[in-house]
Amino acid sequence: MNMKPIYLDHAATTPTAPEVVQAMLPYLEGTYGNASSLHSFGREAKTAVETARGRIASFMNARPEEIVFTSGGTESDNFIIKGIALSRKDRGNHIITSSIEHHAVLETCGFLRKQGFSVSFLPVDSNGLVNPDDVKKAITNKTILITVMHGNNEIGTIEPVAEIGSIAREHGVAFHTDAVQTFGHVPIDVDELKVDCLSASAHKLHGPKGVGLAYIRTGTKITPLLHGGDQEKRRRASTLNVPGIVGFGRAVDLAGTEMHAESSRQSALRDRLMEGLLAEINDTRINGHPIRRLPNNANLSFAFVEGEGLLLSLDMEGIAVSTGSACTSSSLEPSHVLSAIGVPVELAHGSLRFTLGRDTTREDIERVLRVMPGIVHRLRAMSPLARKGAIS
Ligand SMILES: *Cc1c(COP(=O)(O)O)cnc(C)c1O
Repeated sequence: MNMKPIYLDHAATTPTAPEVVQAMLPYLEGTYGNASSLHSFGREAKTAVETARGRIASFMNARPEEIVFTSGGTESDNFIIKGIALSRKDRGNHIITSSIEHHAVLETCGFLRKQGFSVSFLPVDSNGLVNPDDVKKAITNKTILITVMHGNNEIGTIEPVAEIGSIAREHGVAFHTDAVQTFGHVPIDVDELKVDCLSASAHKLHGPKGVGLAYIRTGTKITPLLHGGDQEKRRRASTLNVPGIVGFGRAVDLAGTEMHAESSRQSALRDRLMEGLLAEINDTRINGHPIRRLPNNANLSFAFVEGEGLLLSLDMEGIAVSTGSACTSSSLEPSHVLSAIGVPVELAHGSLRFTLGRDTTREDIERVLRVMPGIVHRLRAMSPLARKGAIS
């Protein structure tokens, strides 16, 4: 049987849209100038970059000069968190974040802690929500930065970013959100979200890998991570990734026209998937918030099985999913996000994340629903974890 592969791991990365590839091609071929050069080759590249910057800025209700292009979400998180911490270190040394951030934020905060900063990792409730009151209570006269993600990459929960932003403003504390999972998937308005800084990455919205952005609100002081040339108004040295930035711009254009329809289409398919799996497979639970969640994310735990076994069995059927986040898949530690929402360790080990995209069809979801019950039952039948009588 030669079945079409089904990719349900869009939170890890998305296929580059054909429209994006087409937009990038001229900049990989003839239009190769360095955007900093003064001659015509350079000016042509610069025009392309500034066109993309303008479109991306208006998509998020920012000003073009507030966008710094980077190599992706990880760099943006590092740049913003370290850059704000360094620029404000005379005012204080305290940073507030959540316990369910992406590793790019958690590890950066952990690094700063070793450098003498103090970091509060706030708990979340069983749906994965940070309580804005906890943020307020954690603020001290030493607090210089709050960083709380917009949409969680594992369980899909969307955090109360605007509420946290109001609190940060009242206290004169800089506020950053990692919007890598929401950018291009749900509406983003930096004023409504009340953020000073925001991270996004092109490859999570059908753009190319290796390009992202750091939004830095006008007036927010930040120390650069990369020193060298005076690109990006001296906030990030290095020759601009012209094809990548052009591709990012095209991906944002597509999101601008398709996002609304796609999010309702994908969330309907996602709901069908979650409801079907719950109905067909007993001892199953959904992780993350029932309503406040990314439109394309389903995260479920199946008792008495290992996520790796499920993943590999699905892979043999041509279906690609994740056991949690791509970064934790190779370790035996249960996901820090599932632990933080109180999923017991055994159950956390039997968790799968399905993330849909613009190429996901109804038929794809129906095929997953046809094969999953058999896979779970077969693995449970072999599993020493399965208690007799607990499973029909
Ligand atoms: C993917 C991801 C990142 C990292 O982005 P890269 O561009 O892959 O470096 C950061 N934060 C979140 C929430 C992500 O999902």
